[in-house]
Amino acid sequence: MIHPGTGKPIVPDDLEPLFGHELIKQEFSTDRWIEIPEEVRQILAQWRCTPLYRARRLEEALDTPAKIFYKYEGVSPSGSHKTNSAIAQAYYNMKQGVKKITTETGAGQWGSALSMACSQFGLECVVYMVKCSFKQKPYRRALMETFGAQCIASPSDTTEAGRALLASNPDSTGSLGMAISEAVEIAARNEDTKYCLGSVLNHVCVHQSVIGQECITQMELADAYPDIVIGCCGGGSNFAGIAFPFIGRMLQGKEKIRAIGVEPSACPTLTKGTFAYDFGDTSHFTPLMKMFTLGSTFVPPGFHSGGLRYHGMAPMVSHTMALGLMEATSFHQLDTFKAGVAFAKAEGIVPAPESTHAVAATIKEALRCKEEGKSETILFNLSGHGHFDMQAYIDYHDGLVRDYVYPENEIAMALAGLPSVAE
Ligand SMILES: *Cc1c(COP(=O)(O)O)cnc(C)c1O
Repeated sequence: MIHPGTGKPIVPDDLEPLFGHELIKQEFSTDRWIEIPEEVRQILAQWRCTPLYRARRLEEALDTPAKIFYKYEGVSPSGSHKTNSAIAQAYYNMKQGVKKITTETGAGQWGSALSMACSQFGLECVVYMVKCSFKQKPYRRALMETFGAQCIASPSDTTEAGRALLASNPDSTGSLGMAISEAVEIAARNEDTKYCLGSVLNHVCVHQSVIGQECITQMELADAYPDIVIGCCGGGSNFAGIAFPFIGRMLQGKEKIRAIGVEPSACPTLTKGTFAYDFGDTSHFTPLMKMFTLGSTFVPPGFHSGGLRYHGMAPMVSHTMALGLMEATSFHQLDTFKAGVAFAKAEGIVPAPESTHAVAATIKEALRCKEEGKSETILFNLSGHGHFDMQAYIDYHDGLVRDYVYPENEIAMALAGLPSVAE
């Protein structure tokens, strides 16, 4: 990370006003393993290990020789993989005496996960929720409030950043970049308040790696090993969580895999973005990170997978992409919902709209295997269930879901505003 003012690398002290101390240490850590504290494990044990399933009925429906496995993170209390990092982040902040946590949420999964985690450790929680999701998903907000959190539609009039954004566009549907600006501002202004981020950063990817670690052991029990590992990509922690442990083995000279990150065609960060230093938020409060980006001022269209509407990609995932250790692909939302419905009919689980991207890529690979007569093994991360996203499914069944064209001009404009950094 680079300081936007000085152009110098960020040191841990620079982040202290915003993040918990132990989390900053993890952000900069080069340790191979970081022990999960006992108090965190006791809470994770409520739903971990998460199940690894063989999707036999989906295989049958597709008539494919491929073997399909999926890791199901929807069994967590808030319904997605995000709880893995939320518990750890709330715990380390509580340990250090922090009283209040601020954060942003897109579709509401991260806000729900962090609200739940804060309630476990007696912390106050304020969640800035992207305005279009706030309106689309009242049940997510109710869930956060049930856990005792305050949920505010962003952009809001509670911060300077929000007021400025509203002044320039009163009808703004919001974006993750905007909501981050608001949450960061509150944390920076208050001594007893810290900010938590639900994806993108190294420490979040580390917390999520429990997913892939468990998969390695579970695949062993199933006497199998994946040829292909698939995860959808919003900020990247979910993909990192399932894929990095396998990529790590590959780097140690063990089994080769293809790792595939899947993103929405309307927010195609890895497939169409630029690899450059950029801000993590719209109002430019954050350090610069080297990542695939569509430009920090790009506001993705209001498609249904709110958790995938981010302009950037985790620096670690971006680095992995730049090294050629993974591939990326994108799907339009009509195709992802079609895949999600096919999966639900076969396996009985309704995937979150974000997760349907991984399902679509899995089905595409399974059909390729059929065409080529190959029995490859595919593992994907079913990052969450869609029980709070049924309005999206209602819209799909009613024929109201449409594909957004790739917003080429807006992305070009946002990319033209990339900060210049001497490397
Ligand atoms: C947030 C979310 C994602 C995207 O996760 P990242 O770690 O930001 O890539 C995927 N699936 C679900 C269900 C989510 O809630």
